[in-house]
Amino acid sequence: SSRIMLGPLVAAIDQGTSSTRFLVFNSKTAELLSHHQVEIKQSFPKEGWVEEDPREILQSVYECMERTCEKLTQLNIDISNIKAIGVTNQRETTLVWDKETGEPLYNAIVWLDLRTQSTVERLINKTPGRNKNHLKHKTGLPISTYFSAVKLRWLMDNVDEVHEAILSHRAMFGTIDSWLIWCLTGGKKGGVHCTDVTNASRTMLFNIHTMDWDPELCSYFGIPMEILPRVRSSSEIYGLMKSGALTGIPISGCLGDQSAALVGQMCFQDGHAKNTYGTGCFLLRNTGSKPVMSDHGLLTTVAYKLGRDKPACYALEGSVAIAGAVVRWLKDNLGIIDGSEELEKLAASVGTSYGCYFVPAFSGLYAPYWEPSARGIICGLTQFTNRSHLAFAALEAVCFQTREILDAMNQDSGIPLNQLQVDGGMTSNRLLMQLQADILCIPVVKPSMPETTALGAAMAAGAAEGVSVWSLSPEDLSEVTSEKFEPQINPEESEFRYARWKKAVQKAMNWET
Ligand code: ADP
Repeated sequence: SSRIMLGPLVAAIDQGTSSTRFLVFNSKTAELLSHHQVEIKQSFPKEGWVEEDPREILQSVYECMERTCEKLTQLNIDISNIKAIGVTNQRETTLVWDKETGEPLYNAIVWLDLRTQSTVERLINKTPGRNKNHLKHKTGLPISTYFSAVKLRWLMDNVDEVHEAILSHRAMFGTIDSWLIWCLTGGKKGGVHCTDVTNASRTMLFNIHTMDWDPELCSYFGIPMEILPRVRSSSEIYGLMKSGALTGIPISGCLGDQSAALVGQMCFQDGHAKNTYGTGCFLLRNTGSKPVMSDHGLLTTVAYKLGRDKPACYALEGSVAIAGAVVRWLKDNLGIIDGSEELEKLAASVGTSYGCYFVPAFSGLYAPYWEPSARGIICGLTQFTNRSHLAFAALEAVCFQTREILDAMNQDSGIPLNQLQVDGGMTSNRLLMQLQADILCIPVVKPSMPETTALGAAMAAGAAEGVSVWSLSPEDLSEVTSEKFEPQINPEESEFRYARWKKAVQKAMNWET
């Protein structure tokens, strides 16, 4: 059979918190040609702990690559057209491995994990004026359980293998991007130990002004600098694939998932913003070539640096820990739904929470509060409340959390967003999208191709020097179609519900006192 002629293809590994995907795009049209997805197991060995197995993550990447290549072959598409691979990943998730054996020395500690809460409280108490923003001038981040440095510190203090590997100079630290790139480029036989500026900016060891590891931050956390990966731009050739069907293809793009979504949504200009609904929820607004410090609880982060000689772009970010994760919780922990479709159906059947508010502060509260001791609450229950109302309240919680972040973002920038670009797994839920427009009182716009995170990483890979099959101007992409959700309830109703939500948040923050 004859093979279909296509332009160069570009691929992306999208290693998220809940699943891994491998996707292949046509670089002429940004059309998604084929993909494969594998769920990732999460373990909760103790209350507040969240871990994933780095070997399983790596295996899932190989499996997704193989299956996608098989699907392409079935479509008569020649996989030798794939010219570059980008990596995008769950950020902050931390692991240490032994460079001689190639084996991880402990599970990956997932970004949501709370085991470092007491360390974080101790660090904050030691700062002048108990200031959680003590390191913000360098890192753009508050001291929190969220970022990698405290997780790495925990591994050094609690895992003998990690401690010993550091003493014998065999330890390598990395976030998931570093682990994957090291393994895929050869692992213990010469793998490349690197990360990109966006992932580095989430460790709390990286200075977002000098754009390099910061010796003072490293000594503050007691981290030996020799275990850190080399920091590279988000678009350059890091190394070549060393095994499998894609051997020899350059890995030439790397972005943390939220940065990749910003690129995939073409938010290249100062003021452009997007909100991604996955396990958590992350609103990023491009602030151009200057890092802007928030006065309203947002993070300052590196958005991207698309080439070694290109300038870095920064973003303000509002992070919500629990969004889609609440769906998994209702399914696995309460057993009141059998999946996300049923959740949507139940919620739609009532169309209201009937005064029930659900603050899913399972991992404390992130932006704009940064309160690790907050805990989840469900309030406003009556004899009448049933699981459908609870399902509705869970979806509404995602929307209220986004509203809090959008308000903070508007206050920081002084220029309110007049619509919200969205993406991520949860945006397939149309009720959620409508509810979001209602609660924000602005339109919500969703691209018809939902895989924007992977698209961003593929674009960065295809645009790298030495690959250059893709330019990064929005005009080069065929018309991106989208769907718009307009607000349908009146603003008074919206404000009333939002005010109730805020009351519920106060209870979640102070529930112990
Ligand atoms: P991540 O990148 O964090 O792994 P994804 O973008 O893949 O996340 O989105 C997966 C999340 O979205 C899961 O937490 C899942 O529960 C949630 N989700 C997927 N579809 C729906 C839906 N129709 N309604 C509500 N939540 C959904």
